[in-house]
Amino acid sequence: MAKIPIDLKAGEIKKDNSVIVGIDLGTTNSLVSYIKDGKAIAVKDKSGTNTLVPSIVSFAPSGEILVGEQARMNLILHPERTIYSVKRLLGKSYADIQGRRSKLGYTIIEDDTDALVKIQIDDKFYTPVELSAEILKFLKQRVEEELGLPVTKAVITVPAYFNDTQRQSTKDAGKLAGLDVLRIINEPTAASLAYGLDNLNDGKIAIYDLGGGTFDISILEITDGVFEVLSTHGDTYLGGDDIDNAIIEFWMDKYGIAEIAVMDNKEFSQAIRLTAEKAKKHLSFNDKFSETLGGVLFEINRSEFDSIITPIVDRTILSVNQALKDAKLSIEQVDELVLVGGSTRIPIIKSRLSEFFKKNVNDTLDPDEVVSLGAAVQADVLAGKNKRILLLDVTPLSMGIETMGGLMDVIVPRNSTIPIKVGRKYTTSMDGQKNLKVAIYQGERDLVKDNRKLGEFILKDIPPMSAGIPKIEVHFIIDSDGILQVRAKEERSGTESDIEINNHLGISEEEMGRMLLESIQHAEADMKVKALQESVNEANYIVNASKKFIQQNTSILSEDEIQEIQERTSKLKESISSQDKNSIQSAIQNLNAYTTPLAHRALDKNIGDAIKGISL
Ligand code: AMP
Repeated sequence: MAKIPIDLKAGEIKKDNSVIVGIDLGTTNSLVSYIKDGKAIAVKDKSGTNTLVPSIVSFAPSGEILVGEQARMNLILHPERTIYSVKRLLGKSYADIQGRRSKLGYTIIEDDTDALVKIQIDDKFYTPVELSAEILKFLKQRVEEELGLPVTKAVITVPAYFNDTQRQSTKDAGKLAGLDVLRIINEPTAASLAYGLDNLNDGKIAIYDLGGGTFDISILEITDGVFEVLSTHGDTYLGGDDIDNAIIEFWMDKYGIAEIAVMDNKEFSQAIRLTAEKAKKHLSFNDKFSETLGGVLFEINRSEFDSIITPIVDRTILSVNQALKDAKLSIEQVDELVLVGGSTRIPIIKSRLSEFFKKNVNDTLDPDEVVSLGAAVQADVLAGKNKRILLLDVTPLSMGIETMGGLMDVIVPRNSTIPIKVGRKYTTSMDGQKNLKVAIYQGERDLVKDNRKLGEFILKDIPPMSAGIPKIEVHFIIDSDGILQVRAKEERSGTESDIEINNHLGISEEEMGRMLLESIQHAEADMKVKALQESVNEANYIVNASKKFIQQNTSILSEDEIQEIQERTSKLKESISSQDKNSIQSAIQNLNAYTTPLAHRALDKNIGDAIKGISL
């Protein structure tokens, strides 16, 4: 029902034999793979040695954008212009990352709202989607050079725990990089596919993934070729870096080096970190490591190493136990154990897991490549070249509703398996708003005017409330016959309305292909309009919020403070008419910087009043 081969170069639909690639867009490293003669292979750099591309983007002062190894060099030279671990920020709001911001070398704007995070470099503001797109462009180019062909389609992996927004952000990044993302699949599913475990009949698989900075355990069930995530657990701040730190601490203890000596000397601290990582890797294949650094002989043997990382391994085993408990499985019920991530090369990790699960581990593939190799296997299935996995009915185009400023908010992404029921919460944008129009569209463009309208209805009689207070849940339900029902319900009052649509499948293959093609051709321009509109929405919201803030807090604000807020608010209003995303963002930042401490003062006073109220 939904496999549409389009030739992007020629701009037409035809039976194509183009390659679909598999991409692992990782926190520390990313890589791309494809299937050659039935075998998945990861693409290497020009020197033919490395498949891994560090997930780092750096903005050189000259304006050049560097990705991968070249960008990594700038981590020390230009930390404020070099972005790493951007995956941790994908689909996250400022409120989500509270407390983590100060640990990064680059600037995340000061804000604590629900708006999505942006990163500031000079006077430009970048979204995690734009930064991830740079990494994807780099991978696209690498595989195109290897194949000597344009590559326009990909399967990209994400962690099993990624939510809708994070998955959609990953897709958007792909689109911006000029890739038609045919499917987003879970990393543990990809790893299982790489080992051919989709052939298991009603099997349960544990995937243990210990990378450079994150740890995940996922338990999957596979029935007739269909994967289901039974449970996931993990620690988003545990990985190889912690093992390197444990070695450094061991050495400082052993050789009596004061912490200050390491912390105060940037060069020494960097050198000892690199030596610790080298020691760790060396000990995966040898019994002893020694190297002289700054006149000191640094040594560590396998049994010392094993004992210092035991607490780290124990922590991961606790997570494994929790995941098994959540999946309601005993150790004996797990059929296969798969290892993912560079840190699983460590022998004691393999042996502890093998002992715990009472079975051999699947470790014949490179643990750094296995996810991307599996993504390539899935890509091959989508290309129709590999019939071994069952493909279910899927939605041919994304479906969603119109939100403020004519933006398309996707609720059911393209290629979702049906039947499906998905809901999302919305609210009103004006005080006392009584009606809410729900306009339903189908298509891949960011503005609804470029998509296909399927219908609309009005949710009436919302009781009068301030903007942002009503909780309106919009549900899209598609049954196995492909009938779409859209329902909206205001939760506080119970007001409800719905519509049934069955023409979303009544679209020709040509029309569908054209819509997909246009969405990729216009991706960059669309994304710009979308980013600008989102900034305008955010700015309008903040202008209103500031007005209300002054009205409600006149008693604790001085004349000067009120005037300053008003001046900064007017500047923000002016910036809206400039239609320039970066000036709007600067003006938002300028106003927020002034109002945040005042908002804290107001909050303290309100709490104080409330406490007084109680004591009376
Ligand atoms: P990933 O995020 O999956 O690329 O994992 C990278 C992590 O694996 C880093 O912390 C590396 O130091 C670690 N790593 C790579 N090779 C080895 C090895 N042979 N032994 C131990 N750790 C390794």
